[in-house]
Amino acid sequence: MSKNVIIVGAGIGGLATALRLVKSGYKVKILEKNSQAGGRLNRISRDGFSFDTGPSFFSMSYEFENFAKDCRIRIPFKYSPLEPLYTVNIINNAKTFFIYKNVRKLSEQFNDIEPNFEIKMMKYLNKTEKVFNDTVDLVIKRNFDSIFSYLISLMQVNPIHLPLLLKSFWKEVTNNFSSREARQIISLVAFF
Ligand SMILES: Cc1cc2nc3c(=O)[nH]c(=O)nc-3n(C[C@H](O)[C@H](O)[C@H](O)COP(=O)(O)OP(=O)(O)OC[C@H]3O[C@@H](n4cnc5c(N)ncnc54)[C@H](O)[C@@H]3O)c2cc1C
Repeated sequence: MSKNVIIVGAGIGGLATALRLVKSGYKVKILEKNSQAGGRLNRISRDGFSFDTGPSFFSMSYEFENFAKDCRIRIPFKYSPLEPLYTVNIINNAKTFFIYKNVRKLSEQFNDIEPNFEIKMMKYLNKTEKVFNDTVDLVIKRNFDSIFSYLISLMQVNPIHLPLLLKSFWKEVTNNFSSREARQIISLVAFF
C-alpha cells in the first residue's frame, strides 16, 4: 500500500518534492494558502504590465537536470548560457559593469579603479570554490532540526575554512577588494 504525504506549500520546493515523491510511489496532496502555485517564483500582472515577484536568475542548472533524471521526465525547455550574465549600473559614477564569466573580460572594466583585479578575483574564486565544495553536502544541502545538529555539522567542516565561517561576508569581500564598486559587485554575486 502506498504511503500518503501532505506537502504544505506549492512553491518550487513543494512542487519539486511532490513530483519526486509521486515518482517514487507516494500519494501526495499539496496544500497551498494562496490562489495560485509558485510561491516566490511568481508573477503579478496588471494593466498590461508583468512583474516577476522573485527569481530571475537561472543558476545551478545541474539541479534541474538531476531533478528531471530522478523524475524520469524531459525538461520542457532549453537553456543557453548568458555572457555577460547581467549588468550592474552604479548610479553615482554613471558606470555600467558587464558581469562576464570570462574573468579577463570582467577584469578589463576595473583597470582604473581596482589594481590587479584579475589576480584578486582568481584568488577569491579559488578560495570560495573550496568553501562551496567542502560545505555543499555537509551543510548547504542538509536539513537541520536544531541549532545543535547545525553546529555538529559545522564542526565537521574542514577547519581551514573556520576564519571564513566566523566573519561576515562583507568583511571577507572588503579584505579582498579595495574599490567600492568591486566590493559592491562581488558581494552581490555572493548572494547567489
Ligand atoms: C526578490 C527575490 C529574488 C530572487 N531571485 C532568485 C534568483 O534570481 N534565482 C534563484 O534561483 N532564486 C531566487 N530567489 C529565491 C527563490 O525565489 C526561492 O528560493 C524559491 O522560490 C523558494 O521556493 P520554496 O518553495 O522553498 O518557498 P516559497 O516560494 O516561499 O513557497 C512556499 C509556499 O508555501 C506556501 N505556504 C506557506 N505557509 C503555508 C501554510 N501555512 N499553508 C499553506 N501554504 C503555505 C506559500 O504561500 C508559498 O506558496 C529569489 C527570491 C526573492 C524573494
